[in-house]
Amino acid sequence: MGTDYHSALEEFEAMQDSLKRPDTAVCVLCILDTALWRRVGSDAVHGTCSFCNQENTCTTFDELADVVDSVVNEWYTTVSESGAYHDDGELNVTTHDINDVAYDILNEAIQPDAHAVLSDYVASRDSTDYGWVQNADIWATIYDFTKGAWKNLSRDLKDGDESKDLRTVATLSSETTGLLAEIRDVALLQGLFKVSSPALWRCRSREGLTFPLIAKQLGSPPSGAANRMTTEGQSVFYGSVGLECAVKEISQGRDISFAAGKFVPSRELYYFDVYATPERPSVFEIDSHDRIQALDFLDSFSKTLSEPRTDDSPRHYIPSQVFIKFLRENSETPQPEAIRFKSSLDPDGNDENWVVFVDREHCVDHPAEDSDLHLILDSASTQEHPSSRTFLSQAPSTPST
Ligand SMILES: [Zn+2]
Repeated sequence: MGTDYHSALEEFEAMQDSLKRPDTAVCVLCILDTALWRRVGSDAVHGTCSFCNQENTCTTFDELADVVDSVVNEWYTTVSESGAYHDDGELNVTTHDINDVAYDILNEAIQPDAHAVLSDYVASRDSTDYGWVQNADIWATIYDFTKGAWKNLSRDLKDGDESKDLRTVATLSSETTGLLAEIRDVALLQGLFKVSSPALWRCRSREGLTFPLIAKQLGSPPSGAANRMTTEGQSVFYGSVGLECAVKEISQGRDISFAAGKFVPSRELYYFDVYATPERPSVFEIDSHDRIQALDFLDSFSKTLSEPRTDDSPRHYIPSQVFIKFLRENSETPQPEAIRFKSSLDPDGNDENWVVFVDREHCVDHPAEDSDLHLILDSASTQEHPSSRTFLSQAPSTPST
């Protein structure tokens, strides 16, 4: 660390300081977030970029700072406007420095050389005295209320007694159906209802099966036990995208002999996706503020639908069952034919389960003539194994990223 290093550093800092000006130019290639560029691009002019020194279409720090300011105002409020108060000499909320706020907002949105300089420039224009607080820390959003209401409903349903069981949606209170409709509408708006034709593995204990396997042996049971997404007596198809996952689901840690086969839907099916929420939009996208909050809410809601069963309560699945029943019996919107959800055996992994609302009659060996949704067994995929434990220990482990 000789003088050379120090003088180079001083020179760099002086250069950075000299760039904190309204007319500092940033070119289209140095702005990495396309939504940010779209918001400033209309005033862009041809010039030399202050960061990459290339001639290109450029905008200025002034224009960029205006956009950053508007994003800051969507997510933050000044301490003085927040209603925060001093409690024993300390503010009752976490405050943020505008420089850090701008730095966070610009993260990965702009070329690294320009990142800190622009954040400093944004801060230099800010005359707020006591910093900023995150809106989420001081005000509940509409989604917070919905989340709280769902949590309360789930608790009530789990604690409820059998005699008051919610067998049909018709028996639900209007307050409850209002809440369920609200959640469904957010999910519809945010694109959680989709179409797809997944190939699904289904596994059964080997006991009592005859070979060659046919669809009706391996498909939906005639009258299923109550399960995560369905109530007792429904004939529905539970399957997994991976064979290993299907084996894990059926064996639940025990060592069993099993048979398995893969089914494909006869056509695209309309499904509700609680497996994964869509990627969050850039904060620079117009209206992204509401979308990000809605997706965060749906994320936490989805987790409640596939949370591991941590208690022995037979009522653990009731909230999920009620919500799915509501979707299925509702006539206002198209009813999903399937639900895609994360395996609760590995909540942090990628194991993917489906329930398809197809009864045993609609599990077939050959494509059917009518347009009903059928699940067709791929006979070449059928197989049997004497030990699930041996099978799972030999299976190539799926990457869990
Ligand atoms: Zn550039």
